[in-house]
Amino acid sequence: MTTPQHYPDSLLFIDGQWRSGAAGRVLPVLNPFDESTLGSVAHAEPADLDDALTAAQRGFALWRRESAQQRAALLHRAAELWRSRTAEAARVMTLEQGKPLAQAQGEVLAAADIIDWFAEEARRTYGRIVPARAESVRQLVLKEPVGPVAAFTPWNFPVNQAVRKIAAALAAGCSIVLKGPEETPASCALLVQAFHDAGLPPGVLGLVFGTPAMISQHLIAHPVIRKVSFTGSIPVGKQLAALAGQHMKRVTMELGGHAPVIVCADADLERAAKLLCVAKFRNAGQICIAPTRFLIHASVYDAFVAAFVSETERLSVGNGLSAATDVGPLANARRLADIEALVADAREHGARLLSGGTRTASQGYGYAPTVLGDVPLTARIMNEEPFGPVALLNRYTLLNEALAEANRLPFGLAAYAYTRSASVIAALSRGIESGMLSVNHHGLSLPELPFGGIKESGYGTEGGAEALESYLTTKLVSEYSEPVTE
Ligand code: NAD
Repeated sequence: MTTPQHYPDSLLFIDGQWRSGAAGRVLPVLNPFDESTLGSVAHAEPADLDDALTAAQRGFALWRRESAQQRAALLHRAAELWRSRTAEAARVMTLEQGKPLAQAQGEVLAAADIIDWFAEEARRTYGRIVPARAESVRQLVLKEPVGPVAAFTPWNFPVNQAVRKIAAALAAGCSIVLKGPEETPASCALLVQAFHDAGLPPGVLGLVFGTPAMISQHLIAHPVIRKVSFTGSIPVGKQLAALAGQHMKRVTMELGGHAPVIVCADADLERAAKLLCVAKFRNAGQICIAPTRFLIHASVYDAFVAAFVSETERLSVGNGLSAATDVGPLANARRLADIEALVADAREHGARLLSGGTRTASQGYGYAPTVLGDVPLTARIMNEEPFGPVALLNRYTLLNEALAEANRLPFGLAAYAYTRSASVIAALSRGIESGMLSVNHHGLSLPELPFGGIKESGYGTEGGAEALESYLTTKLVSEYSEPVTE
């Protein structure tokens, strides 16, 4: 089957050149809306990875010597070029990933904002001078780029997951080899092209695709690589962190979550239902910070359920290229199969189906925004990240019970609350076990804010000054100089 829209095939980007893999192998790229073949992506072999590593080593030697101001100027140029390509990049992203065009455009523009922010932040990378115990001693704390980075990014935000790592690494003075998402490669490749067109020297940024396990084993173990950054699932994150540990590499892990949402009796229910519905079903729920386990005070449960279901049923599911579409298909067949199995299991355990619960077409990976009520804790979906368009609505009576349920799982990425009570907000801020808490709105994932999890959701952060810090090492220089006697 073919698709009428033009879709570019993706190659590997190694040492400033686009090229095929050494064995000429390619993988197909599918359109999740109708399962048609869009094009292909080149598959890297170990020899290609070695070339990318050699280039990254040379690129690092060059790039680390550029001043922060020069690096910032290049990043700003890349951001500007990328912004000017919004329409094309968004169209390509919608074709390969499925999300509605407006969301793809938002992702492209947010990426430009991220590049600009890191460009500026890196100019404020300061060391410090620590007062010495003796007059003839000076103690300097210096910040230096950690070295070549191996980064791994998934298909749910093909551009944004990549740009957070690329922009922070480049701003800090590191080179980076990115293993992009094989299922959604072309928008990520267009992003890399923008850096190339802005004048980034060869070797500073490389892009490879292929067999994820082969690539991660090869790159992480290689002595050239000094830091590993991964966004994806917890099981894979644990494997990669263990491998990085064997080779003593610095690691940032941005993994899955199962975000609790506490809706208190005093919340503005209509507003909460509207905002939560948007946040839940954006990107068809394939977001690590998507609100998932709704804990609603028993006294307002029925009212909230009615408002939330009514918002949900207004959403139209379809082709992301159509302006009328609010929710696109799931991104791949694995997600559809997982969601169908999780919903069936929840219903077998006694959950009530309040909306959705079915595929939207016989072809493609469309799945209706789904609301389940009174979902028992024994259901798999209350314990495993659904990563799809399913909201789980349960009730609580005491705030402490809600907090205990919110903290029950080994995940700790995002959490949400809706309440007008300052003391409840303070109690949740103290008690919630998550890397991020957003109250009465959805204010996460701006470039200037830390973005990351605790517990099994990972460590390190992908935003704010802390993200830049993770691409820097600390060097102490303690100098003694003879006192001047004349
Ligand atoms: P998966 O575990 O197979 O893969 C997740 C990501 O890791 C993909 O991008 C994949 O290419 C990559 N990957 C897999 N094995 C790898 C390896 N050995 N080395 C390097 N990279 C590897 O899961 P999936 O089916 O693609 O996605 C489903 C699950 O992944 C979701 O349930 C969710 O938990 C998680 N996920 C999380 C995020 C996030 O933003 N944190 C994004 C995408 C997927």
